[in-house]
Amino acid sequence: MKTAKMRTVLMSEMTWREYAQALERDPVVFIPTGALEQHGPHLPMAVDYLLPTAIAREVAEQVGGVVAAPVTYGYKSMTRSAGGPFFPGSTGLDGHTLSLVIRDIIRELVRHGARRICVLDGNYENLWFLNEGIDLAMREVGDKGVRIMCLQHWEFLTEETLAQVFPDGYPGIELEHAAVLETSLMMHFHPQLVLTQQVPDNAAADAPCYDVWPPRREWVAPEGSLISAKGASPAKGALIAAQYTRDISAAVEREFYATDAVAAQA
Ligand code: ZN
Repeated sequence: MKTAKMRTVLMSEMTWREYAQALERDPVVFIPTGALEQHGPHLPMAVDYLLPTAIAREVAEQVGGVVAAPVTYGYKSMTRSAGGPFFPGSTGLDGHTLSLVIRDIIRELVRHGARRICVLDGNYENLWFLNEGIDLAMREVGDKGVRIMCLQHWEFLTEETLAQVFPDGYPGIELEHAAVLETSLMMHFHPQLVLTQQVPDNAAADAPCYDVWPPRREWVAPEGSLISAKGASPAKGALIAAQYTRDISAAVEREFYATDAVAAQA
């Protein structure tokens, strides 16, 4: 849904009057969620909230949405998916804390008048705690006609994009921590934050199909990346970003606007 151009789609950059005006249009309000955790020797620790914030911004521009300030801390770094707690800086929340943070933010957005909310996540380990927080929020505010969508951006990768980004074969999302996908997207959205001389070329992490406590340091490469990021490039980042914007916008339109049309016809 195209609407009048706003000065910014970022709630944090709006005045309260601009935000109130934006909400009068019943926009989709995006909540980017992520984590503060190690992303290899070449990427900043903010990757997991910078990427969903940048993607949400592009999607919001397409669909006339608003982007709330990101949730910058997330669930704990797990060894097999993000390197574990061995790296200085990885700063995890307990799962129920994250659930209550997202529940409270949704409740506040609904109090402001938002009825269509999309949680756009960038940290793999967050998913079930976000789902829990959304479910708790719906229990409180669901009678107000609120609808919520929750997605993790990599779920939108198409076969076509993967074939272009990984000409030698896709190693799988399990290994894509601080690797080709995140590095390419950071080179596209925040090139000044990528240490291109430090891009790692380590072998794929070799962990079994289970977790243990205490976690094992030897399951992850000393670099912190789960596999080589050498194949990353700004052009690949631009390609992925364009595909995400197109397909996430379409999904958001479908869930929040196409169903309205169906309901209106009924
Ligand atoms: Zn990440």
